[in-house]
Amino acid sequence: MGAATIRARGVRKVYPGERALTALDGISLDVRPGEFISILGPSGCGKSTFLRCVAGLEDITGGELQVDGRPVAGPPDHVGMVFQRDALLEWRNIERNILLPVEFARKPAQAYRARMAQLLRLTGLSEFGDRYPRELSGGMRQRAAICRALIDQPSLLLMDEPFGALDALTRDQMNVELQRIWLETRNTVMFVTHGIAEAVFLADRVVVLSPRPGRIADIIEVDLPRPRRLAVRETAAFGAYTGHIRQLFHEMGLINEEPDAAQQEVAA
Ligand code: ADP
Repeated sequence: MGAATIRARGVRKVYPGERALTALDGISLDVRPGEFISILGPSGCGKSTFLRCVAGLEDITGGELQVDGRPVAGPPDHVGMVFQRDALLEWRNIERNILLPVEFARKPAQAYRARMAQLLRLTGLSEFGDRYPRELSGGMRQRAAICRALIDQPSLLLMDEPFGALDALTRDQMNVELQRIWLETRNTVMFVTHGIAEAVFLADRVVVLSPRPGRIADIIEVDLPRPRRLAVRETAAFGAYTGHIRQLFHEMGLINEEPDAAQQEVAA
């Protein structure tokens, strides 16, 4: 196995200001080439911050952070990103949206024709290359955003709650499709989510972050065979993983199933 794609050692991130905020502290993690990692934690625990640090969009305050053996310094050219909002340009058709990173890199679009066709096929969008974003459903738009992130063969795919804005059924469908795409491309993926089941379903390992400052609370190896079907979520093995994580959240005070004082008043 090669060197780690992502190597983090004691990564710390402080947002300066009058009330300086420590978003991340002591994050140490090796992500292996071709591995699918979920970063899971409650809102505000620093998941996006860590992803943006790995992407070179934020400077780290302390520690060491390397991608492909080199310290992260500024936005890299070997990373594909997908966000919650697909950020497709409405005035460009799907193919021309997907080619954006190629244009930014001043590479000849012609050389990417075959790759484009392959990605459109892989995501079921072959018929939609000449359509405009407004003509596509939310799930299809997000698939186009995934194509765009993959067009220039990134060594690393960073996904920040990419399915967070989709309805539950579409989100399930996208989980299955992302797994299929990943099984074909075998990119290294770092997938940020606050969904416990989504994190476990997709990942080789789930990195659980604690609330502010974000620290690694646990790293869970998910030993379920692939391809995983949605029904795996109803199995005891799957429930053992999600149950363990729910227990961690409970211990961190993030889940409180006791009726609170206000509710007790109403009930009385
Ligand atoms: P998550 O992705 O887990 O929801 P974020 O990484 O977005 O969490 O945020 C972690 C913490 O850092 C939050 O308290 C957030 O308010 C703060 N934060 C995020 N970005 C900035 C910024 N640019 N300036 C100051 N504080 C920020």
